[in-house]
Amino acid sequence: MLGKRLREIIGKITKKPYIDEGDVKVMIKEIQKALIAADVDVRLVLDLSKRIEKRALGEQMRALTLKQHVFQIVYEELVKLMGEGYSPRLERHKVLLCGLYGSGKTTTAGKLAHFFKKNGLKPALVAADFDRPAAIEQLRQLATQINCAFYSAASLEEVLEKVKEAREDVVIIDSAGRNALDERLLEELRSIYSKVAPEEVFLVVSGDMGQSAGKQARAISEVVPISAVIVTKMDSSAKGGAALSAVSAANAKIAFIGMGEKIEDLRLYDPKKFVGRLLGIPDIEGLLAKAKEAGLEEVAEEELTAETLLKQLKAAKKMGPLKNILSMMGAVDLPKELVVQGEEKLKGIEAIIQSMTKEERRDVSLLKRQPSRIRRIAKGSGRSEKEVREFIAQFEKMEKLMKRFKKDRGMKRKLEEMFKRWQG
Ligand code: GDP
Ligand code: MG
Repeated sequence: MLGKRLREIIGKITKKPYIDEGDVKVMIKEIQKALIAADVDVRLVLDLSKRIEKRALGEQMRALTLKQHVFQIVYEELVKLMGEGYSPRLERHKVLLCGLYGSGKTTTAGKLAHFFKKNGLKPALVAADFDRPAAIEQLRQLATQINCAFYSAASLEEVLEKVKEAREDVVIIDSAGRNALDERLLEELRSIYSKVAPEEVFLVVSGDMGQSAGKQARAISEVVPISAVIVTKMDSSAKGGAALSAVSAANAKIAFIGMGEKIEDLRLYDPKKFVGRLLGIPDIEGLLAKAKEAGLEEVAEEELTAETLLKQLKAAKKMGPLKNILSMMGAVDLPKELVVQGEEKLKGIEAIIQSMTKEERRDVSLLKRQPSRIRRIAKGSGRSEKEVREFIAQFEKMEKLMKRFKKDRGMKRKLEEMFKRWQG
């Protein structure tokens, strides 16, 4: 599934202590592959990868926050790919549903009735399938289950009568489907539309259709002005993301998504929530905001010492449990023990730094080859000497990476200056 692939790709980046241009490029290639494998239109994928590359590498790179920065960009671009959100019409109105057989139209009619009822409006379901008694019966049963009004009609004229008679707030018409978008279906839609004058026309498509959902939205909208698309079977289709992106590329809005067979399995469409779930982090926005609030970014700008590391740890703690931070960084499918271990490790590092003198915090190398200092810190922090030595080794690794990164940045700046001089 697309979500799993994306989570793995971002997880890979997260595991690295430090990422560079090459890592970003590899990540983009992998995102491309994942989206194309999920049937997203190649042109959309190429546009998206160009934008991610331009933003991730164009905006200034910072060692400690680059991962978060790249993550935020990937998230934002995926959200853009998946279209806009939708506000439901919570007032008296008529809804016409159209779509092919098996797209989930009748089920969705029931789900919508349930949705409006929950929102304090009285719904009515109207069966406008004149050929298939079974389809009428299916809608009648849904109406009984939801406990809402139900009308069936044997002809278009009768549908009109029923719709006029109906005293309910939201009248939902389940039009007849077809196996294909043939002339007869389009003609029928055209005449229902012009006679009933519904305020909302929803096209129902199945997520299984993948990118061809976009073509269908375009074709139908030439016959009747659709107000939005409802994409069903998002719970079970591997091509759901492709359907959503294609529909929004066809300039159609997505109103709801179907997430199962039951009447309550309908969700108002929110691309941010959709991408959040795809990446395994329901509240990405909240977490990114928290990171800013906690001052993680500013701290990360300072030079790396044990002192600034301590500040970072404290800032990170403000963001909530480690599990959230790790999942924000994309490391989602982590086993619980690892998270608990990680939490314990961070506490250890904090205790160790707190037992260091000011001098040592500024210059961790003072601890090397000084067993007496290590012993003192171990005692003070209640950690073993081995742990203190591990901390020193880890810290040195981080320092090296930071230095390498700074050098790269210095090189980049020098090159840029050279270019400018040549051009000037
Ligand atoms: P219609 O021919 O367009 O009216 O389609 P139906 O409403 O009869 O649905 C066709 C099949 O798709 C039925 O078996 C439904 O239970 C199933 N279905 C509809 N919506 C969803 C959904 O969101 N998720 C899943 N998993 N199945 C759905
Ligand atoms: Mg039906």
